[in-house]
Amino acid sequence: MSLYVVSTPIGNLEDITVRAVRVLKEVDLILCEDTRTSRVLLNHYEIKTSTTSFHSYSTDAKADALIRELLAGKNFAMISDAGTPGISDPAFVLINAAVKAGITVIPLPGASAVLAALAGSGLPMDKFLYLGFVPAKKGRVTLFESLRDEDRTVVLYESPHRIMKTLSQMLDALGPDRIIVIARELTKMHETFHRGTVSQISTDFSKTPPKGEMVVLVAPKNFDGFK
Ligand code: SAM
Repeated sequence: MSLYVVSTPIGNLEDITVRAVRVLKEVDLILCEDTRTSRVLLNHYEIKTSTTSFHSYSTDAKADALIRELLAGKNFAMISDAGTPGISDPAFVLINAAVKAGITVIPLPGASAVLAALAGSGLPMDKFLYLGFVPAKKGRVTLFESLRDEDRTVVLYESPHRIMKTLSQMLDALGPDRIIVIARELTKMHETFHRGTVSQISTDFSKTPPKGEMVVLVAPKNFDGFK
């Protein structure tokens, strides 16, 4: 009667723990954000456990049915498309329901884009503020303005389609000289850290618009740069 919350790679298939592979092989069922996405990983490690999907469109009835099976003594693992389940993906709903039902929740730590981005950024990370995805529409300017006096490194997820808009709004809200880092394609072949001022990175990206998954980090207000 346990729900294992299992971290999986964010790009590089080698970024999974020995324990995670064993647990994924041993549980009765793996709950996936998207079974087709997870199939690549499961095939790679010859994990033959049955899968079912649990995503943001899953009904309460599906969550209730899974909780009933857990209460009846089954062991399930939950994985998301990438990284640590629940970090800006739909896993939270089921984890919360499991805790409320008195089910043992066992986290298996591992890859997450937040921590990989911080670890390679060169920015202070003794304390940081993770704010999830930049809102797609409303609240963007207010969010960036609220970071003006922030003295912790701030970590945000952003889509490549909106990064130019984000940089332009950051330029207005934070000024041209605030240091930022954009961590792209972490753990993958084209992994790149772009480090500099909002103004420098805006200029670079306007010449070559960046592709791929990305994390945006905003340096603390008084951070004095990389020189
Ligand atoms: N649960 C995941 C985690 O632990 O990082 C995050 C899931 S969220 C739906 C997906 C977002 O995470 C992407 O849009 C991107 O901002 C970030 N991300 C995931 N993998 C990444 C990677 N390899 N490189 C850079 N950012 C990544």
